[in-house]
Amino acid sequence: MPPFSLVTDYRCAVRAALLRVSLAGCEYPAYDGDMTLAHIADNPPSQGWDLHCHTVFSDGRQTPADMVREACALGLHGVAITDHDTTAGWNDAATAATEYGLHLVRGTEVTADADGVSVHMLAYQYDPHNCEISGLFAKLRRARLERTKRMVELISKDYPITWDDVLAQIREGDETTVGRPHIADALVAAGAYPDRSAAFNGAVGSRSPYYIPTPSPDAADVVRAVKQAGGVSVIAHAGDPSRNAVLLSDDQIGQLIDAGLDGLEVWHRGNPPQQRRRLLDIASRHHLLITGGSDWHGQGGKPNRLGENLTDDETVRSIVERGAIPLI
Ligand SMILES: [Zn+2]
Ligand SMILES: [Zn+2]
Repeated sequence: MPPFSLVTDYRCAVRAALLRVSLAGCEYPAYDGDMTLAHIADNPPSQGWDLHCHTVFSDGRQTPADMVREACALGLHGVAITDHDTTAGWNDAATAATEYGLHLVRGTEVTADADGVSVHMLAYQYDPHNCEISGLFAKLRRARLERTKRMVELISKDYPITWDDVLAQIREGDETTVGRPHIADALVAAGAYPDRSAAFNGAVGSRSPYYIPTPSPDAADVVRAVKQAGGVSVIAHAGDPSRNAVLLSDDQIGQLIDAGLDGLEVWHRGNPPQQRRRLLDIASRHHLLITGGSDWHGQGGKPNRLGENLTDDETVRSIVERGAIPLI
């Protein structure tokens, strides 16, 4: 592993200055030092790393290169790519990070389940070739494919589409996980809906009678698999009431700590102040890492701004030291 240095590469500094000029006046708001929606007593870091970002390799709207370029322009110390259930964007992000001279943490956000509560696990710096974790992702992709096929079977009883029509909508290649967007596109092609969002409000929506929930692995199994692969696991936005009617209890978080959990994402716009305090309390009792990230999805994705929540240098140092792969 190369020595961990927090010195910002001069290439990034020069590019950042140029980009600040080019970004001035465009829609994307320049970083103004306002890191969180609500300032609370327990201070989030005012500078550092955005450890939670999505790109076109999952449901984000911008490329890994865009992510790196914007992180550089904002003066972040580094950025993490954390697309859902995949490492497919890691190479592009690494190439861009090297080109721009910005540090890159490599990660994945894994959708998991703990007794019916949906849990998003951020897995950092793990060995992507490890059998345990690549097996887990392969199993997940197979389960999701089966689930999509079952939804298509149900929908095709009432709408003029077949599985082949859905496959015909895939343009991104074999790596693509076939999912509801492709069913929606097939329905649009068949004339059943005017566009994808109309289909999502209809037959493919989560309230439709054809809907089948996404199969998810057990959260403790994900924590163990990440550990096996030499990685670092953090529960994303554990206190976000908008995602779950019931949040993970202290006991459930305790079980994940017993399984080898490394940290909690406290600084996230979805965690309200009282939840941040609860998570900080759990983290201090169990000596967990405290991270922050924007959950950026690019322009036109979600309103989350790159760099709006950050992780401090010391925490990133711990993540890199614990991880199986070098920091870029
Ligand atoms: Zn999430
Ligand atoms: Zn996310």
